[in-house]
Amino acid sequence: MTPGSSTVRVLVVGGGIAGLVAARRLALGGRDVTLFEASDRLGGQVARHTVGGIDLDAGAESFATRRGTVADFAAQLRLGDDIVPPAELPAWLYRVDGTAKPLPATSVLGIPGMALAPDVVDAIGLRAAMRAQLELLLPSFIGSRSATIGELVRRRMGSAVVEQLVDPVVRGVHSTSADELPLDRAVPGLRAALLRDGSLMHAVRGMRAAAPAGSQVAGIRGGIVRLVDELTTDLQRFGVEIRLNSPVSEVTSDGLTVGGERLVGQVLVAASGVGDSDPDSSAPARRITVITLVIEQPELDAAPRGTGVLVAAGAPGVTARALTHLTVKWPWLAERSGGLHALRLSYDSDVIGLEASHALDLAPADAATLLGMPVGRVVDAASVTWERSAPRTHAVDGMHYVGEADAGTGLAAVIGQAEAEAEALLAEDRPD
Ligand SMILES: Cc1cc2nc3c(=O)[nH]c(=O)nc-3n(C[C@H](O)[C@H](O)[C@H](O)COP(=O)(O)OP(=O)(O)OC[C@H]3O[C@@H](n4cnc5c(N)ncnc54)[C@H](O)[C@@H]3O)c2cc1C
Repeated sequence: MTPGSSTVRVLVVGGGIAGLVAARRLALGGRDVTLFEASDRLGGQVARHTVGGIDLDAGAESFATRRGTVADFAAQLRLGDDIVPPAELPAWLYRVDGTAKPLPATSVLGIPGMALAPDVVDAIGLRAAMRAQLELLLPSFIGSRSATIGELVRRRMGSAVVEQLVDPVVRGVHSTSADELPLDRAVPGLRAALLRDGSLMHAVRGMRAAAPAGSQVAGIRGGIVRLVDELTTDLQRFGVEIRLNSPVSEVTSDGLTVGGERLVGQVLVAASGVGDSDPDSSAPARRITVITLVIEQPELDAAPRGTGVLVAAGAPGVTARALTHLTVKWPWLAERSGGLHALRLSYDSDVIGLEASHALDLAPADAATLLGMPVGRVVDAASVTWERSAPRTHAVDGMHYVGEADAGTGLAAVIGQAEAEAEALLAEDRPD
């Protein structure tokens, strides 16, 4: 490779959001890019499906607004005017005692910013709220070395806050428990903010104040999948060669093998399970099944449980771990749904050994329990099972990695890291 050459070939493995973002950045930097995608479509966990005649996101349906990463990127893709906030309604919690309460308003990943706020006391009870309030008296180093978000919150605020607030939110967002989610992946910067601000509650309030005005998440009118549509347009425009149905079987730092053919070039891995130095020791991917129900029931117009319901571990009579009331959460979607309601229920397939067809059977009753009212006529239903990447534990020296296994879950983390890693690769052979 010639330093500074504009014809250095880069081989990108994986056509999910991470691979698409990195390929675009590399092509803009003058690289000759070929992208290999194992399946017959681009987008990975960002995809579209039509249920009951309504076009819906089948995977990711929102993004975190922190640091403006996704919104800035979407603007580069000509989608800036279509970024929309969700409805200003709370999400709810379905609790171990079988009752449902709105999630406290001032919180980050369920961690309350004001333990004695009425909505916190209502959600966890006065005794647990008073225990949480005591964290203001603890020195800031207590819990600051915690490995997981669960450990941090338990040490500073007590178990009730973990079990009744943080864990249901973590399960809903990250498909894992608070005691398994590494702290720095859960809320990047929280550890440093705790030490700087002196308490967890002050750190949470500081993060909330620093976030862009409005909600912690946003969507795109027409669906998150429009990111994939626009990225694909750009890759075609910038001359990226896209090879679908092309599973890469082997990667090294100077090339890869696909369909028995060996190709030479710089490699950027954007797929979990590819390029591990020790594949046998990697944690398996987790499977989640998403059931979408399209329902005819005018009573749901009243949004009985806001934008949706997160389920506490051990809550009775429900197998789903979260319900999203899509047509309440996204007003643009309600405008296009002809009065029908779209509900999404998420199931941890591995935890409960659940087959997708079984989840489809359970979903209407789970929806009724979580919404606190019978569900009406199910017009249509769909089931999609996804694999969520486990963190990569064994990287090969000198190889470039992007995507969920390396950046953490979620579009904000994935897009930010893919852009940064592609820039790093470009800088490697840029003349000084
Ligand atoms: C149901 C669901 C809801 C979600 N909701 C949200 C949300 O609301 N907000 C949010 O921010 N995030 C959400 N996420 C998470 C977010 O979608 C992901 O973190 C992100 O899309 C991951 O992108 P990625 O490119 O790293 O991985 P992926 O999307 O998994 O892409 C990897 C790609 O690599 C391909 N591949 C694999 N092996 C090979 C190989 N050997 N050769 C070639 N190609 C290969 C795969 O086919 C795939 O296309 C959700 C995810 C799911 C499943």
